[in-house]
Amino acid sequence: MVGLGIAGMSAAIGLRRAGWTPVIVERAPERRTGGYFVGLFPEGLQAAVDLGIADHLHTRNPERRPGGNSWSVDRRGRRRPALGFLDQPGEPAAVLRGDIEAALWQSVTGVEVRLGTTPVAITEGPAEVQVLLEEAGTGARYREGFDMIVGADGMRSSVRRIVFGPDEDHLTTWNAMICAFQLEEQVPSYEASDSITIARAKRAVWVFGLADHAPTALLTYRTTDIQEQFGGSRVQRLRSVFSGMDDPVVRHVLDSLEKAPDHLFDSVHQVKMPRWSKGRVVLVGDAAWCVNLYSGMGATSSLRGGAALSAALLEHPDDLAAALGAWEVGLRPFITKHQRTARLKQQMFVPSSRRAEALRSVLLGLVRRVRGRRQATEAGGQRAWTLSGPVVHPRPMPTRRTGACLPRGRCQVFQGALLAVGEDHRAAELHDLLAAAEFVDEEAVQVGHVTDAHVQQEVVAAREDEHGHDLGHGQRLVVEPADQGPGQRADLGEDHRLHRPAQ
Ligand SMILES: Cc1cc2nc3c(=O)[nH]c(=O)nc-3n(C[C@H](O)[C@H](O)[C@H](O)COP(=O)(O)OP(=O)(O)OC[C@H]3O[C@@H](n4cnc5c(N)ncnc54)[C@H](O)[C@@H]3O)c2cc1C
Repeated sequence: MVGLGIAGMSAAIGLRRAGWTPVIVERAPERRTGGYFVGLFPEGLQAAVDLGIADHLHTRNPERRPGGNSWSVDRRGRRRPALGFLDQPGEPAAVLRGDIEAALWQSVTGVEVRLGTTPVAITEGPAEVQVLLEEAGTGARYREGFDMIVGADGMRSSVRRIVFGPDEDHLTTWNAMICAFQLEEQVPSYEASDSITIARAKRAVWVFGLADHAPTALLTYRTTDIQEQFGGSRVQRLRSVFSGMDDPVVRHVLDSLEKAPDHLFDSVHQVKMPRWSKGRVVLVGDAAWCVNLYSGMGATSSLRGGAALSAALLEHPDDLAAALGAWEVGLRPFITKHQRTARLKQQMFVPSSRRAEALRSVLLGLVRRVRGRRQATEAGGQRAWTLSGPVVHPRPMPTRRTGACLPRGRCQVFQGALLAVGEDHRAAELHDLLAAAEFVDEEAVQVGHVTDAHVQQEVVAAREDEHGHDLGHGQRLVVEPADQGPGQRADLGEDHRLHRPAQ
């Protein structure tokens, strides 16, 4: 096992359960702790149960306050209740990466762990794999034979490079950067466990509130020059990237970065491989499929990878090739799905443009209202607003099922559903956002299309006439409460109106 992260320890526990005797080698001189915020989804929690570590897993979801504990800050510096990362379907568990690793570590007892050790050469023979290992401290090298090698050494895996080829063959570049670290203290004027999002075109600041720990921060931005980002002082670079976002939250986060004992600063990639194993060498976790942070599924899939490997080896005890084949067949659809949706979720993390920023805001605002209404209904409260019904500006819009594609770049709200868009290049980010409704998947905010083909088949199109709202022509969308009818609109507040952003 190469790598003492979530994937490596999950695989080690899984293999031991299948009767193997794992040995873990780890490059770092000691086991790392702490780390950034991670949302663990139901599939990850199930894998934790399967691996027998669930009882050791410490989660940190803040208690939900009636007014909400997630906020977004708009361009005028106004704070509004918003949907946060933990509001996603599946109700992820809030943890630090170190919490998962600590839980795994408790079950890894008895497994031999060699710290400060890396593989430098891997040669497969007929009965075993020969590995040339190097000790970082002394530089000493020695050869050893193993029945199988599991590369769990992260996105820039050495095992992958040695056995499967150079990074350029497998790492896809996302033209985005991240910086994640723990805040010493919460942003002034916010509650200790509050979460805050400031998502602007091409740059975003996230603060993840936790129940019993200071929040963690994530700075993320889009750039086309990745290499350039690694030169010079990181703090200065981030100050320059986020300059102009003169908000107390941004200031606090950047000031905290200067004082933080450590941080993670890296470019964003996905790993795409046609096969995750070759002979007796198999890759797991980020080394094999890095879905990346925007998907929010990296830790979940690493746990699942280890649990599934265990099951496959138990099912095929005498046939390694069959076990690895079955493991990959079982796991790949899950990974492919999350690699795809990561592109969409990226728009939620850091919008690609002013247009995407505005649409993100509208979409999440709609979902939040639907949720609020549902919760009010479930609590037996009065139904104050509904999103169903015609949604028009400046006057009611007749709708019909055409089955046809909407005109280029057009966005429409119909019966509480944000429907769109044509096939022009500008619409790419709209596609991303709208398809991200899978991510928000709510009763009245449904978008049933991801590709143009789907749009043509499935969209209930609004009439393609002068009543349509083309976001490209400076119009705005206004959500009408259906109970009062069009034109009887009460004051809905600014946040339900979408103004075309200035170019
Ligand atoms: C900012 C951020 C936020 C995230 N948020 C989420 C989230 O909300 N939900 C989620 O599910 N996932 C999230 N992820 C992703 C998740 O953290 C990773 O997918 C997961 O930790 C990957 O685990 P891994 O064990 O495959 O790799 P890693 O964590 O990279 O571990 C690899 C290990 O291998 C060691 N190693 C590397 N090279 C060698 C070598 N040559 N020899 C020996 N050892 C080596 C490393 O030191 C390390 O210990 C996030 C990631 C980031 C960066």
